Amino acid sequence: MTSHPNPRPLPVPAPAHADPLSDTRGRALRDLRISVTDRCNFRCTYCMPKEVFGKDFQFLERGALLSFGEINRLVRLFRDQGVEKIRITGGEPLVRRKLEVLIEMLAYWDDLDLTLTTNGSLLAQKAQALKDAGLKRVTVSLDSLDDTVFRAMNDVDFPVARVLEGIEAADRAGLAPIKVNMVVKRGVNDHTVVDMARFFKGSGHILRFIEFMDVGSTNGWQMQHVVPSRELVSRLDEVFGIESLDPNYTGEVAERWRYRDGSGEVGFISSVTQAFCRDCTRARLSAEGSLYTCLFATRGTDLRALLRADASDEEISAQIARIWRARTDRYSEIRTEDTAKQRKVEMSYIGG
Ligand code: SAM
Ligand code: SF4
Ligand code: SF4
Repeated sequence: MTSHPNPRPLPVPAPAHADPLSDTRGRALRDLRISVTDRCNFRCTYCMPKEVFGKDFQFLERGALLSFGEINRLVRLFRDQGVEKIRITGGEPLVRRKLEVLIEMLAYWDDLDLTLTTNGSLLAQKAQALKDAGLKRVTVSLDSLDDTVFRAMNDVDFPVARVLEGIEAADRAGLAPIKVNMVVKRGVNDHTVVDMARFFKGSGHILRFIEFMDVGSTNGWQMQHVVPSRELVSRLDEVFGIESLDPNYTGEVAERWRYRDGSGEVGFISSVTQAFCRDCTRARLSAEGSLYTCLFATRGTDLRALLRADASDEEISAQIARIWRARTDRYSEIRTEDTAKQRKVEMSYIGG
């Protein structure tokens, strides 16, 4: 693999802060989601609809993207501020060339939980290299096992079978436990929910149902398209019998349930019908280095400018701390049909 950019030997532990970072609502900064590209090889209708993200859409130029070295530096500084978990996302992170080089850099920070969310299309080729580079786990998005439904939702005619191959490759490589994310949209794929559950029940993978959200301003969101998790819980309970579990940790976004027969776990991410802003400890870094404190933000703060103006670690850390301390976000708690229509940053840009 590549030469290592971080000093050896192993990293010094992140400092214990006498005054840990906390926002205006008392929430710590624990998770950082990093979008490594705004591009994607899918055009999921709920995320990057073709009418908007067509041939003429201007994606970021390569030079606008944070380099791996810049990302690594920011990760070091965020870790010093208390971040414990890093999720690599996008766009589709596996379309960023040589992503495993970045993973290897970030894996150096061995006390960080390092994970990645992918549409799975390139996972069969990449899983082993990602594991070898130090990735711990993956989350794979898959919206249906029904090939016709899935091809229509990704809108590039991508078959289910190849995503399943990716999941198998990730499993073989040891990127487990694998989580599988299914965005549920009423009238589109909600009739395939039970089949999905049946397929993954007993597999060791954790299927999570996500309520369709009004991210960005282009996906035509309406409340009537949302299938509330409550409804899915009763459907699954009727068919299989499920019972709720305690969260693994405060701020866990998925509500955990398990099959009564002991054959595994399912999760429900209910950001529309049961907002979890109260415990939200997540920040997001866009592919061009802007920091966002909410998935539904309208504006971010440019950290790339500081990086490229040779700002010191102390200056960048102070900026991160200023932004987090001023954070007031609680969008999902105050969502209405009107706020849903407001202009927001697209999820493919900010990172899901
Ligand atoms: N391309 C990768 C993927 O699809 O897994 C990573 C980026 S994607 C934006 C991250 C996650 O956001 C995916 O699981 C996707 O299904 C979810 N997502 C995208 N748009 C959404 C929406 N409108 N509502 C709910 N979840 C959404
Ligand atoms: Fe691409 Fe993921 Fe968005 Fe689908 S959800 S368009 S795979 S970024
Ligand atoms: Fe966090 Fe914003 Fe989502 Fe609330 S709406 S949980 S603050 S990202």
